[in-house]
Amino acid sequence: MIKYLDLKSVTAQHDSEINEAVQRVVESGWYLQGAENKAFCKEFASFIGTAHCVGCGNGLDALTLILRAYKEMGVMQDGDEVIVPANTYIATILAITENNLKPVLVEPRIDTFQINDTRIEEAITPRTRAIMIVHLYGKCAYTDHIGDICRRHNLRLIEDNAQAHGCHFGNRRTGSLGDAAAHSFYPGKNLGALGDGGAVTTDDKTLAEMITTLANYGSSRKYVFDYKGRNSRLDEVQAAVLRVKLRYLDADNARRRDIALQYAERIHNERLLLPSMEYCKQSVHHIFPVLCKQRDELQKYLLEHGVQTMVHYPIPPHRQLCYKEMAELQLPITEQIHAEELSIPLNQTLTQEEVETIIDVLNKF
Ligand SMILES: *Cc1c(COP(=O)(O)O)cnc(C)c1O
Repeated sequence: MIKYLDLKSVTAQHDSEINEAVQRVVESGWYLQGAENKAFCKEFASFIGTAHCVGCGNGLDALTLILRAYKEMGVMQDGDEVIVPANTYIATILAITENNLKPVLVEPRIDTFQINDTRIEEAITPRTRAIMIVHLYGKCAYTDHIGDICRRHNLRLIEDNAQAHGCHFGNRRTGSLGDAAAHSFYPGKNLGALGDGGAVTTDDKTLAEMITTLANYGSSRKYVFDYKGRNSRLDEVQAAVLRVKLRYLDADNARRRDIALQYAERIHNERLLLPSMEYCKQSVHHIFPVLCKQRDELQKYLLEHGVQTMVHYPIPPHRQLCYKEMAELQLPITEQIHAEELSIPLNQTLTQEEVETIIDVLNKF
């Protein structure tokens, strides 16, 4: 059986260096807010290309803290609107509603899965304060048109970079394209920890300081609390592990791209719609999405032939019970993606033999 993702082999790639890093933390006797966190944040900011990086507990916290900080800074107020792609993972939308802000869902493009930038302006109202783009599946969602809309309407641009570590837009990396970006280091992401982890990157010093304070109980001086904050930290073990894995991220992403290009070039099946070669060159391939009208049949067929797959995601956010207030929305492109998408295995630990099997089985469906 070819597993969808075998985290054990992902970790095994750099086994001895990871063990060394963990051991270093164990022996240091310092487990939170120490040298590893500081070093990782410096290295990650430099990798992404921003002046600041603040570590936090997970990707949802990173998203939530950015919006909370903007509220404390007076940029946003309760009830203000944030534009977001309708087909994102639910975390992006949870961060908005948790801050008493209103998510305004915009349809994606079916060929890129990214927010349709020609449909953003019709969603802007006097209450719109930000656009949250999501580099979904590892593909860059930013366009010059989006940057232009933000400038003309004075909107903050926030990136959800949970799925796109290492991705480029021209010479810049995703995570440095807007005013602030949220990152997740959930184990299955392209840059994954051995547990939870997250970070915010930004060039805005005031924002970085506010997020640091809010993530530390609302305190910037010991036992003095200026805000009703929370506790959200990237621990020393995770930071040390991430420092090792960051050094291999570009190489891992290059192997992912190599496999994706083989899929795009060599899978020929009229029942399947694959990402284009152009798409494949631009993505870091957190997920390789295939669209198929008989998605469930395809998933069963692949499993019977030894290939495990996943669906990202089976139910769109506006059809979830937790968002009953959005149940009336008509979002046909989003619904089509959720009905037809199947993610086939793609990660840097797949052997060429496994890649051949996957191509072969998909061609025979
Ligand atoms: C994984 C993910 C998150 C949340 O990250 P966690 O670390 O699991 O909280 C947010 N947005 C997107 C698009 C994700 O894929």
